[in-house]
Amino acid sequence: MSARVYLDYNASAPVWPEAASAVDEALRAGANASSIHAPGRAARTRIEDAREAVARLVGADPAGIVLTGGGTEANNQAVRCSGAERVLVSAIEHESVLAADEAAEILPVTPGGTVDPAALAHAFSADARPALVAVMLANNETGVIQPVAEIAEIAHRHGARVHCDAVQAAGKIPVDTASLGADSYALSAHKTGGPQGVGALVLRDPDAAGRLIHGGGQERGRRAGTENVAGIAGFGRAAEIVGERLEDFAGLAALRDRMEEEIRAVDPEAWIVGADAPRLPNTSMVVMPGCESAAQVIALDLDGIAVSAGSACSSGQVRIPYVLDAMGVDDAEARCALRVSLGWRTTSHEIDRFVVSWANLRRRTARRVA
Ligand code: PLP
Repeated sequence: MSARVYLDYNASAPVWPEAASAVDEALRAGANASSIHAPGRAARTRIEDAREAVARLVGADPAGIVLTGGGTEANNQAVRCSGAERVLVSAIEHESVLAADEAAEILPVTPGGTVDPAALAHAFSADARPALVAVMLANNETGVIQPVAEIAEIAHRHGARVHCDAVQAAGKIPVDTASLGADSYALSAHKTGGPQGVGALVLRDPDAAGRLIHGGGQERGRRAGTENVAGIAGFGRAAEIVGERLEDFAGLAALRDRMEEEIRAVDPEAWIVGADAPRLPNTSMVVMPGCESAAQVIALDLDGIAVSAGSACSSGQVRIPYVLDAMGVDDAEARCALRVSLGWRTTSHEIDRFVVSWANLRRRTARRVA
C-alpha cells in the first residue's frame, strides 16, 4: 500500500524534524526556567531564544510575547481579560474566540467570506461603550484572509481595541503585527509545524495583558504556571523555519489551484468556498454537492488520504460548518464541504492521488444519485 497522504495541515501541521529535536533536547536537559542555577538558566535561555524567534516571525517586540498553552488560551486571555464593556466578534471566528464571551455581539460576513468593515462602523454608531473587536487574520476553514488593518483603523477611530487570531496565518503568509495595527494577536505552535499545546499572545503594549491563569509570576506576571520549556523550544524552532520558508509556502498556491481546476473539470457542479477572495495559499474548501462531508472524509481515509470536514477542533462531531452558514451557503451544500489543507511536505504526486480519489468518489456517488 502506498504511503498515506496528509492534507490536513490546518488541523495540525506535521512537526519539523528540527522542532522535534529542539523539544527532545530541552526535555532531556530538564530544569525549571525559574531556577537560578546553571541548568535553570539554560532552560531560561531556551525560552528567551524562542520568544525572540516567535517575535521575529510576526514583526513584534519580544517583550510583548506571552507564551501560552496554545492558541485557544491566547484567544481566551485576550477576550476574557480585556476589561471591555462590549465585545464584538466576527461570525467566522474560531470557537476559542466565540465561546470566550457568550454575550459577544456578532459581526456579519459577506457571501465571499470576509468581515464587512461597514458593519463594524455601523455597530459603533449604535453604541459608544468601550469595546474589544476580535477579527481573525485568516479563516481556518476557508482560508479567506480578513481586512484586519481596515478593521483596526475603524475600531481605533472609535476608541475600541482589537484582538486578531493569527493562528492560521502565521507562518503561511507574511504577518507584520505592526502594520496590521491590532492590539493583540493569538498564535499556535502546532499550526506552524511545532508541538501541540504551545502558543502565544502577542501584545502591542507588553504591559496590557489581563490575567487568565493565576498563580506564580511567570511570563512577567501575565501567565502563571511553570513554563513548558520543551514545547516552547520547539515552537521557537518551528517559527524560525516557517519564517525562512514563506516563499515556499506561497508556492503551494499553484498546487492548490491546479487541484481546484482538476476537480472542477471532473465535476462542473463542484465549487470552492471563498474562491474569489484572497485566501491562504494552502487552503481549499471544496463542495461536492450531494455527498455529505463525513462520507467524503471516510471514503478518502479508506484511500489513505487525510482531510477534514470543516473544523477538526470539535472532536469528530459532524455539524453544518457555522462558517459556511455565516456566509449564507445553503445548508444542503454546506453539509458537503471538505477542507483540504496543504503544507510543507505536500507533493504534486499527493495532489494527483487526492484528485483521483476525489474523482472516483464523485463517480460512485453520482451513480447512486442518478
Ligand atoms: N484559532 C484558529 C483560527 C484555529 O484554527 C485554532 C485551531 O484549530 C485555534 C485558534 C486554536 O489553537 P490551539 O489548537 O493551539 O488551541
